[in-house]
Amino acid sequence: MSKPTLGIIGGGQLGSMLSIAAKKLEIKTVIFCDNLDAPAQKFSDHFIHGSYDDIKKINEFLNKTDVITYEFENIPYQTLNTINKSKPVLPKPSVNRIVQHRLAEKDFINKLNIRTTMYSSVEDKSEINSMQDLLPGLLKTTTLGYDGKGQHLIDSIEDLNKLDIDFSKGYILEKLVKLKKEISVIITRFSDKKYEVYEPIENVHEDQILKFSSIPAEISNKILEQSKTWAIQIAEELKYVGTLCVEFFIDRNENLYVNEIAPRVHNSGHLTINAYNVSQFENHVRSVCKLEQIPLKKISNAKMTNIIGDQINVYRNRQFTQNEFFFDYLKKQIKSKRKMGHLTTLIN
Ligand code: AMP
Repeated sequence: MSKPTLGIIGGGQLGSMLSIAAKKLEIKTVIFCDNLDAPAQKFSDHFIHGSYDDIKKINEFLNKTDVITYEFENIPYQTLNTINKSKPVLPKPSVNRIVQHRLAEKDFINKLNIRTTMYSSVEDKSEINSMQDLLPGLLKTTTLGYDGKGQHLIDSIEDLNKLDIDFSKGYILEKLVKLKKEISVIITRFSDKKYEVYEPIENVHEDQILKFSSIPAEISNKILEQSKTWAIQIAEELKYVGTLCVEFFIDRNENLYVNEIAPRVHNSGHLTINAYNVSQFENHVRSVCKLEQIPLKKISNAKMTNIIGDQINVYRNRQFTQNEFFFDYLKKQIKSKRKMGHLTTLIN
């Protein structure tokens, strides 16, 4: 049987790494992205530039591909649904619809009896008066927020009065967790009860942007087992196909909470490229293209550093040891707070 051509919606660094992994498996890739400068086009076999609601471009993309996946979650559901009518979209669009919306996502997780932070939807400013037990809290947009964008810390009703917020856009108030640690679990599911799960990764954020990820995470066995069990439960319930990341909070009393689900390969999993026999990217391609499932083997402990903004210049001029692996995302413009590359260091 000939191998399918993989269509990837989105052309950022995750698209680049998916394309690199696909090439290794002799799978051709087509990137479809609304950014003319999308870095992933440098690594894929074909690039289509167009907006995500341009039917002509969508058809061009469909004609060139056999199976479609995506590298970011904020793609209009309509686009995924239209595409799915002619070619399979994996993970399926209904998964993306749940996860795109913070409220639907948290309701889904709680129905599985998995703990999240306490939360409530906020439709009007006056409702905050009855939400004292969620303060101090973070007011977040229900859609389109990432890396802390669209989030406001609210200590009191007065804080809210100082902000000019249009509540019709959809907001959620989440109780602030006294964080001890943040971890993530990455899982690739192939089919019913067939999955490969990576060990929990410990994550450190700076200015709400991921800065460091490392394995092993310094966590108790109980948290290790619980986080993996919950990630498996979520992937099974969604009948997920592909790589999924579950982000967790651990509070100072050793309680574990799911923060959010990313229905895609994840920044915290970059270290899997060098620390495992099969990376999260390769596993994603294997799963959505229905290739062989290979048992996961860890090669080494590792630490990944995200290179943000103009720090990239330092790395571009540096020498590396044989345990260091530098990835330059080759983005056209250097912008502050923007992920420009990463360095993975293997630790024996
Ligand atoms: P998010 O975009 O919701 O994943 O939030 C980005 C980061 O903000 C998280 O990784 C945490 O470091 C922090 N954060 C978000 N929500 C909370 C919360 N309810 N309590 C404490 N920290 C939070």
